[in-house]
Amino acid sequence: MTYGLHELHEHPSESMNWRRHRSGCPNYRERWFPQSDTDAGEPMYQVFCLLNTPPETFEEQEKCLASRGQCWRLAETAESKRRSARSDIPLSSVKRRKPA
Ligand code: SF4
Repeated sequence: MTYGLHELHEHPSESMNWRRHRSGCPNYRERWFPQSDTDAGEPMYQVFCLLNTPPETFEEQEKCLASRGQCWRLAETAESKRRSARSDIPLSSVKRRKPA
């Protein structure tokens, strides 16, 4: 069996070909292809997220590389839930005016 250059045939969490970033998310892995032909459209590197929510843009990748303690997606979701919980006014606290 032969594998293509960019196929995934080793688990990124176990293979030393997939690098972590010291200041990045512990779930972030990256591997480079120095022999890629970028003029032919081949990728220079691949990114893998162990939580299966990989960054899809350069900006998201930058967030991954700066999220050493907690996944930025989880942090943003938690923050948005906190904000929405603060803005939710319980119906029991709403007083209605009685018709005169
Ligand atoms: S998406 Fe979240 S869990 Fe995945 S690599 Fe980025 S910061 Fe880590």
